Amino acid sequence: MRAKTMDGREIDLRQEELDSFKKRLRGPVIAPGEAGYAESRAVWNSMIDKKPALVARCLGTADVIACVQFASEHRLLLCIKGGGHNIAGLAAADDALMLDMSLMRGVWVDPQRKVAHAQAGCLLGDVDRETQVHGLAAVLGFVSLTGITGLTLGGGFGYLTRRWGWTSDTVLGIDVVTADARLVRASSDENADLFWGLRGGGGNFGVVTGIDYEVHPVGPEVVGGVVAWPAAAAPAVLELYRTLAAKAPPELTLVALMRPAPPAPWLPKDMHGKPIVALLACHSGDPAEGEKLVAPIKSFGTPIGDVLVRRPYEQMQSLLDATQPKGRRYYWKSEYLSSIEPALCEKVIAHAARIPSPHSAVVLFQIEGALNRLEEEHSPVGNRDARYVLNVAGSWEQAAEDGANIDWVRGTWNDMKSFSTGGTYVNFLTEDEGPERIAAALGKGRRRLAEVKAKWDPQNVFRTNRNIKPA
Ligand SMILES: Cc1cc2nc3c(=O)[nH]c(=O)nc-3n(C[C@H](O)[C@H](O)[C@H](O)COP(=O)(O)OP(=O)(O)OC[C@H]3O[C@@H](n4cnc5c(N)ncnc54)[C@H](O)[C@@H]3O)c2cc1C
Repeated sequence: MRAKTMDGREIDLRQEELDSFKKRLRGPVIAPGEAGYAESRAVWNSMIDKKPALVARCLGTADVIACVQFASEHRLLLCIKGGGHNIAGLAAADDALMLDMSLMRGVWVDPQRKVAHAQAGCLLGDVDRETQVHGLAAVLGFVSLTGITGLTLGGGFGYLTRRWGWTSDTVLGIDVVTADARLVRASSDENADLFWGLRGGGGNFGVVTGIDYEVHPVGPEVVGGVVAWPAAAAPAVLELYRTLAAKAPPELTLVALMRPAPPAPWLPKDMHGKPIVALLACHSGDPAEGEKLVAPIKSFGTPIGDVLVRRPYEQMQSLLDATQPKGRRYYWKSEYLSSIEPALCEKVIAHAARIPSPHSAVVLFQIEGALNRLEEEHSPVGNRDARYVLNVAGSWEQAAEDGANIDWVRGTWNDMKSFSTGGTYVNFLTEDEGPERIAAALGKGRRRLAEVKAKWDPQNVFRTNRNIKPA
């Protein structure tokens, strides 16, 4: 079987080598053409079409260790798939050995210590499901099908970020198999340099097998959902967003977006496909207080749909899932903002009016709060001046439409990037981003990351990521 080495050479793996590798694993090892290969290699963004030489579906830490040993014996290129949601498709690489972590989805919650231990193949919804049994929640993202590991290693933000910071700020410990195939614990008092690097440095330092999150009392009921108006109301609605967001307590997270109306049952049929403006809200504190805080949204103007209600937290966490299905074509450009300026809102409205696809959107996420109170050097995520995230999110069906959609995303972003803090979110970077944008995402921690990389992965075994060259 043909495979690629770390340094790009092609090699042949002999059948007996493959057979002995398979025997070292509990989980299945799958070659191209075999059952399960197509599913494992596919990532969320169908713009990416990579074909690994071999997929190892790890069933536990011992399988991960066996994979890293085998890769090291043959100097094989390795790639690691968590949820496969990275827009740049970093989970997959041509002719590599792919470690597919998706069979490792256990979650254990200690309600006394308020800690959840999650295996590295978990999706966000797996962790929410188990933590909510105890009325607890970890700080995770907005779409329940996203992988926890890629999200956490790059920072992570969601409805609870305003209260407790980036997801990575809430991590207590990480179990990781290093380049020399050792299982190592990284926490503030064990291998603290590695722990620092992992909380923003992505998959550069090893294969994560499990993460301990600090969890907080949330739900089971929150006040959350969406209210939508026709795009003609956008100037007033975005002004409402600006003023409400500026005074919202950390329990309340507000998101504004403009897009063509999706064919959702809560929106009138004659509005489907027509341009709308919407406010998404989640209040994770006392529901009675939440209802008071979102009342000005619900009573504003003449909405065409309103599903901003008391609902289970778990339901809130999956509310957006249907808008981001696996297998469409996606292209994003994103920036951190320190405030929402009226001039930015004007640009949002102008560019949303030219969206070429029924699925694309311009989105403003509010994240200010706890993350701004930590030092820039707390972790490599940095960007402690970020208060909002702008995402120009292109999404469409056919390859023939790539040009028009990518042009719209780039044009919109070009016209808005002057509002940026200068920083951008590493987990939202597309495949075509160069060193300048990666530098903008990793910020001031780059030199220290290179030192941590040199200590823990001097040969750069873990390179199919936003790669940090060893110092
Ligand atoms: C629909 C959608 C919604 C999103 N919403 C949010 C959001 O609300 N908040 C947010 O912060 N982000 C969000 N993101 C971005 C998300 O954080 C990234 O896409 C992230 O990479 C997803 O993690 P994953 O495990 O699915 O990634 P993968 O694509 O599986 O992997 C991404 C990278 O992480 C590395 N990696 C994965 N698992 C491991 C492991 N076990 N050990 C070492 N390295 C590993 C891979 O090598 C790769 O480099 C969203 C993405 C999508 C597609």
